[in-house]
Amino acid sequence: MDKWIVHKFGGSSVADAGCFRRVAEIIEASPNPHEAVVLSACRGVTDALLGLVTLAETPDAYFPSAVEALKKRHVELARGLVSKAAFDTYREQLERDCRDIAGMLQTVRLIRSSTYSMRDVISGYGEIWSTRLFAPFLRERGRIKGDVLWIDAREVVIVEWGSLGPAVQWAVSEANLQRLVPAGFAGRLIVTGFVATTIKGIQTTLGRNGSDFSGSIFGALLNAAEIIIWTDVDGVLSADPRLVPNAEVIDQLSYNEAMELAYFGAKVIHPQTMEPAVARDIPIFIRNTFAPQKRGTLICANPYRRSRSRASRPSIRSRW
Ligand code: ASP
Repeated sequence: MDKWIVHKFGGSSVADAGCFRRVAEIIEASPNPHEAVVLSACRGVTDALLGLVTLAETPDAYFPSAVEALKKRHVELARGLVSKAAFDTYREQLERDCRDIAGMLQTVRLIRSSTYSMRDVISGYGEIWSTRLFAPFLRERGRIKGDVLWIDAREVVIVEWGSLGPAVQWAVSEANLQRLVPAGFAGRLIVTGFVATTIKGIQTTLGRNGSDFSGSIFGALLNAAEIIIWTDVDGVLSADPRLVPNAEVIDQLSYNEAMELAYFGAKVIHPQTMEPAVARDIPIFIRNTFAPQKRGTLICANPYRRSRSRASRPSIRSRW
């Protein structure tokens, strides 16, 4: 059986209808029969959801119009992307979610404070909304072989929070995924990033920017051949382009080098995020959604620089 490829698209990659189309084209271009697509919330939505909680905690502030604005943004987005039937279903679920959010916010308003789990539940809606729309959108375009299955990561990824952050409970998470994906499934899994469930069954998140971690977790759960983190830059840069204008994209890096760069402040990929991939030796590509023809940066255990002689080594510039 062909191995899985896991794609993860960040918020800027699913910011609007044009972005949704671009992501679909990237997924459709791959002939691999088993691919998982982990999505973030649409750009700015997680911040807006957390902003609602802050607003509800603020005396005399009025939150209903802010909830309405978020709903409207998603309704408008869906209107241009899916059939009338899919749109109606999507809008119905969205309205139900927004009523639930308003109910939770009303409680926050009355007690003038929120709990962690309330913030987790509310901030996790963005990924539910982006994926619930992307799944029917991709299915209705009809350009891929096989099925499109929406996977709610809250039903799969079980974590235990500790001082080092969320620790994935691998055995139970693996069993959960096997239960949801039919044996022999071929097609695309559309997976909510960021959200998970605690061992006590309470909804949680994987922390800010947690969708990269989700991508890596699903890569490990599916024993993927590779994980591709799609973002809005060409790959890992050799320096901060604001300080060094001729900074270049690094072709390949070892896991350790990527971790060192992250430690020194480069926006590579968080070390914790990489851990599940590193433990299983799964290569991670960082690529640009807006320039998919570019190769991006490969992060793996043994980059070619280590195994090839200096003479045969292509220079970074020559690859671009
Ligand atoms: N949407 C979440 C956040 O903004 C997770 C992610 O995008 O990685 O933190």
